[in-house]
Formats: sequence, structure tokens, C-alpha cells
Amino acid sequence: MNSKDLFNESKRYFPGGVNSPVRAFKPYPVFIEKAKGSKIWDVEGNEYIDCCLGYGPLILGHSDSNVIDNVCSQASIGTAYGAPTENEIKLAKMVIDRVPCAEMIRFVNSGTEATMSAIRLARGFNGKNKIVKFEGSYHGAHDYVLVKSGSGAAALPDSLGIPEDTTKNTLTCPYNDEDALKKLIVDEKDNIAAVIVEPVMGNIGCVEPNNGYLEFLREITEENNILLIFDEVITGFRLSSGGAQTYYSITPDLVTMGKIIGGGFPMGAFAGKHEIMEMIAPEGNVYQAGTFNGNPISVKAGISTLNKLDQDFYKNLNKKGNYLRNQISEIVDNLDLNIQTVGLASMFQIYFNRDKVTNYEIAKKSDIERFSIYFHELLDNGIFIPPSQFECNFLSSSHSNEDIEKLLIAIEDSLKIAWK
Ligand SMILES: *Cc1c(COP(=O)(O)O)cnc(C)c1O
Repeated sequence: MNSKDLFNESKRYFPGGVNSPVRAFKPYPVFIEKAKGSKIWDVEGNEYIDCCLGYGPLILGHSDSNVIDNVCSQASIGTAYGAPTENEIKLAKMVIDRVPCAEMIRFVNSGTEATMSAIRLARGFNGKNKIVKFEGSYHGAHDYVLVKSGSGAAALPDSLGIPEDTTKNTLTCPYNDEDALKKLIVDEKDNIAAVIVEPVMGNIGCVEPNNGYLEFLREITEENNILLIFDEVITGFRLSSGGAQTYYSITPDLVTMGKIIGGGFPMGAFAGKHEIMEMIAPEGNVYQAGTFNGNPISVKAGISTLNKLDQDFYKNLNKKGNYLRNQISEIVDNLDLNIQTVGLASMFQIYFNRDKVTNYEIAKKSDIERFSIYFHELLDNGIFIPPSQFECNFLSSSHSNEDIEKLLIAIEDSLKIAWK
């Protein structure tokens, strides 16, 4: 069957024909048959260079041979034990060695679970109820954080089904705006348990912190007895081996991780200082549990992946990212398009926006109609990126120089058509 027929059938079984909203695009999404390295193939047999990469986890590209060998050997000796394993200790040590704020960790199954649990922990730790999140940040799909949320939720008004009693405890503030947060904290500091932030906003495209902004967040939270949570579900093991906290040299109180940590399998984690993490059950009284927590398959995939992420790995990958962004900027300039090439390390995006994007309000003014033309042209030219202006694109270590040259040609052609 082709993608169109599969989508028509899919709509009968799944709301909107998909199992996660960002996957849907008009007129119908491509259905995937297989993937390997930097490539992904649809059911029609079309080959694409993949810069969506599962929305971020696949820093080695699809189905790295060594990761898959290790996963298969683990699968043959058990896929879920409901009891602890030595490999969990191995992975914990790898994370704690690399990530500055991590002294103790809890493995969960997704980024959503990680932020939900980290927020509960922050509230349990300092006995306050409110949290601050930034407009357009995405911290998963649970009630505490689905307020002015990015990613797929950027396309909708705030979700129905979330009680006002829940969202009244979620305060929001524009990113990169020190005065707005100062004001909020003056009014509410005795009620705010935590500030949760994507150190680089990866769910409204890609927005970096202004110079000094993360330092400001660190200082103001510390001064006011508020925990600082870095949501590093994208940036963790992406910007550097220690994530954004190493990249920017700012140590938060808690970190949430997901995506890369599971090496392409479902996994999340939250970690932080001993005195905070010790409050998690069964040591403490903040409850968190999961049938598949520390799942042996995901843990093995995580170990196999993190094993490869040394200094040289990031040097090579980020070099490719720099080259790609420089070349895109040049294309944009040569075409005389007044739009923004953004990103860092192996993250990139083009904002169809005249203004430099520093927050959600500006990001929202991007020309999403032209973006959609650009997306479809890329697809026709054999490039798969997320179908939304409000997502980030990624490179993996599997992307060859040849892939990048093809990508650049397709970007140039697609931009020309989008701006015709
Ligand atoms: C993807 C993402 C999440 C949610 O992770 P899931 O594994 O999809 O639940 C949370 N925070 C950020 C920053 C993310 O990018």
C-alpha cells in the first residue's frame, strides 16, 4: 500500500491518523518502511536524507550496527525483569561522570515522565506549589506544563481537559526577558518551587539564550530558594557530552533527559544533587515508579550510544553543523532573503522571519505558509525534516559530506520555490 492509502486507513484507527500530533502533515504523512544511518525510506521506496532523526534521539543515525548488536544480545536474555541490573549502574555512572549537576539519577521511560517527576520532586523538596515555565517551551505532554507550550502544541490553543486548579500553579514568562522573570519572582517567590527551562529552546525552532541569560536564571533562582531545572531532553548529549550545562558552564539543581539517553529506544531520566534526589521513593517520600523504568533494552542502547560520544565525536559532528549553517546563511544571502539561519552544534533551522528570533512571540510571526512550501519541496528533493517551523532539525554522525552537499542543494532549490 502507498502512504496515501495507509493514511486513509490509519485515520479510522488513530485520531488524525497518527500516534503523535507532530507527525501529521497535509495532505498526508509519508509512511516509513525502514531507515539506516542518515537515510530513511518510505513505503513507496523513496529515499530521504533524514534531518528529523526521530525528533532528536538518533545522534548516531538510524540503527547503528554496534548499538543494534548489543540490543539484540540483551533481547535474547530478557527484555524486562522488574528487578535491578548492573547495567543500570553502568549507565548511571556514565551520565553522572558527564553531566555536572547529576549526582543521583532515576531512569524513567520518556521526557514527559522525566519533567513530570522532576517538577513533583522540586515541589516536594521545597514545599512550594508553583512553577515557572517559558512561553513556547515544551516539556512533554502532561498537565503541569501544557500551558503556552511549544512543539505540536504550538499549533493549538492550550489543551482542553486540564483543570484550572492545575494550570493556576504554572506561571509563564517570555524567554530571554530578565525583567519579566524578576517581576514574577518578586510577586510570587514564596510560592515558586522551580523554574524549568530548555536552555536552548528546541521546540519553537531553535532559540539560544542571550549572553548571560542562563547565568541570570541561576542567580535569581538561587537567591530566592527556587530550584532551577534544565530540561535537557534535546540538549543533553547533543550540545556536548555534558549537555547545555557543560556547553554554557551553568549548573542547575535538577536536569531532565530523554531522547539521546535511550540510544533510539524509549527512555528518560532526571538527575540532580544528592540532597534533592534522596527525596525520591523508596528513599524519600516523593513518589515515582514505572514498570519499564531502567528497561534493560533501553539501558543497553543508552550505554552503547554514550560510549561513542567522546570529545572527538562532538568536534567532528559540530564541525559539520557549523559548515552547514554557514553555507545555508550564504545561500540565504545570495538569494537576498531576509530570513534567519539559526542553530548551534548539530542543531539547525531556518526561520522564515525577518527579525532575529529570541522568544516565542517573535517565532510565532514566522511565515508558516512559506515554510510549508519549503518543507514539501525538500521532501520532493529527498530530504526529510520535521514538517513544522516550530521544531529543530538535526545532524547525526552518519551524515556524510556528500549528504550535506545534497542537503544544501535541496535547501537552495526549496527556498527559491518557497519565495517565488
Ligand atoms: C521531546 C521533549 C520532551 C518530551 O519527551 P518525550 O520523550 O516525547 O515524552 C520534553 N522536553 C523537551 C525539551 C523535549 O524536546
